[in-house]
Amino acid sequence: MANTFDVVIVGSGFGGSIPALRLAQANKKVLVLEQGRVYTEQDFKQSWDLKYLSNLLSITTSDDYATFFRSGMVLGGGSVVFSGLMNRSPSETFQFTDYNGYKVWPDAITRQVLDPYYDMVESMMQIRQATWDEVSKTGGMFAKLLDNVGLTCDRARFPYVNCRQCGYCEAGCIYGAKQSLMHNYIPQAQAAGVEFRTGCRAMQVSPASAGYTVQYVGPDDTLSTVQGTIVILAAGAIYSPELLLRSKQSLPQLSDQVGQNFNNNGGVRFGIELPDGLPSIECYKGMDSAGVMTYAYWKDYGITIEAGTSPASIFTLNIHREGELGWGLDFKQWAHSVYPSKLIIANIMGPVTGEGYVYLNNNNLPSVHFPLTKNLSNYISGKIAPIQALATANNAFLLQTMPTGYMYSIDHMLGTCRMGDDPARSVADGNGQIRNYPGLFVSDSSSIPCGTGVNPSTTIAANAERIAQYIVANW
Ligand SMILES: Cc1cc2nc3c(=O)[nH]c(=O)nc-3n(C[C@H](O)[C@H](O)[C@H](O)COP(=O)(O)OP(=O)(O)OC[C@H]3O[C@@H](n4cnc5c(N)ncnc54)[C@H](O)[C@@H]3O)c2cc1C
Ligand code: SF4
Repeated sequence: MANTFDVVIVGSGFGGSIPALRLAQANKKVLVLEQGRVYTEQDFKQSWDLKYLSNLLSITTSDDYATFFRSGMVLGGGSVVFSGLMNRSPSETFQFTDYNGYKVWPDAITRQVLDPYYDMVESMMQIRQATWDEVSKTGGMFAKLLDNVGLTCDRARFPYVNCRQCGYCEAGCIYGAKQSLMHNYIPQAQAAGVEFRTGCRAMQVSPASAGYTVQYVGPDDTLSTVQGTIVILAAGAIYSPELLLRSKQSLPQLSDQVGQNFNNNGGVRFGIELPDGLPSIECYKGMDSAGVMTYAYWKDYGITIEAGTSPASIFTLNIHREGELGWGLDFKQWAHSVYPSKLIIANIMGPVTGEGYVYLNNNNLPSVHFPLTKNLSNYISGKIAPIQALATANNAFLLQTMPTGYMYSIDHMLGTCRMGDDPARSVADGNGQIRNYPGLFVSDSSSIPCGTGVNPSTTIAANAERIAQYIVANW
């Protein structure tokens, strides 16, 4: 087995597989290390059994709040288990300034700059706007609530071809309708000569005479070392900083921002309990996403809202009904009366920077500290008004998940090795190159400096295309 490459990439999600293909097309010898296994249509199950899902997902917990973080842990990363919503970030996202007035995106990156890369991703993954026929009843009802108050709602964009609306997108699509990276970038990268080593968990990066070495634990639990003139970290927003924190001794000039600025894409989740007399939304029907997204609050509140479907397990959470108990017989009877016919989940997203961080715990594993700071609390409470007004105008009830609308599970993690123009406030420059370490890049969700305003994967993917093009042109 070869152990010297032009490029070694850690992680095979959006941030990893996209540069893998582009660099192989530029005649580089590329290796991708992926800790997860290969799952194909034949291996997926239409099941929410946690034992099965634990093969596909890695879960990290928060040390300070009842929330946890999910990410894909298979060849293809999050693209295999995500619910497929792939919209572009609105232009204003790239001008966002944080609580201290710092403009977090590098000046060189704007929506206009990213547009050609968005085009490439959309073409590769066959992303298109859903038709109204593909929007579930939940999505249709959410659009109706908005329409009742004179607001618009768009059909969202998905990489789905011949979708059968079975609703198991997050368990892996057995029909091959979801165009995950396993349908495009990965097979094309393999055909272009990229080697994907699965079941291989990168443990440490160190400088070498030419480039860097990456130590990894293979499927047989043995430690191996490979060398790349270029190394690209694309293990996701929890695991890329984990790898860098683990490598601090061999990379002593890493920024102290590694692991910092953790954010959840400005995610806040609410429930809307519909009034009596409306047709049932039959929330178990349709794909995992309800298929719609509203930009109606973007201008005034800086948020988009995606309607979501709700698993029955939502009732194990502390759902707050004003003046009512969140448990007991009354709660059970209420839950029975609203599920599955009357409960719409509303996922708010918006540009926000994070005050959380990833660190190595006593077991030398990554943990996330994601406190409900004053800034985050203000952000959340600032977003309640429009959704409350929407519910009230429709004689519906607003339900908060957790006392503050804080999310109970988080899938959109960003910012922990962020790019930026200010070396003191960023881990990497605007090309994703890690400061003080030429040839060491980060190209995944960790490099994205703030919430993307919408679901983040299209922006992560477009940015990975952009970084790959920079590497091809300059290395
Ligand atoms: C259930 C779910 C639903 C989602 N739905 C949506 C959606 O509808 N729309 C959207 O835009 N986003 C969605 N997301 C989020 C989206 O999947 C992520 O934002 C995106 O995948 C992040 O891309 P990435 O390249 O940064 O990392 P990932 O896609 O997470 O890829 C990282 C890869 O690195 C591997 N890895 C990690 N550590 C190591 C290591 N040490 N060595 C080797 N390999 C390693 C992982 O196994 C993984 O395969 C969802 C996520 C989940 C979990
Ligand atoms: S809803 Fe569509 S994309 Fe999702 S698993 Fe079913 S067929 Fe696949």
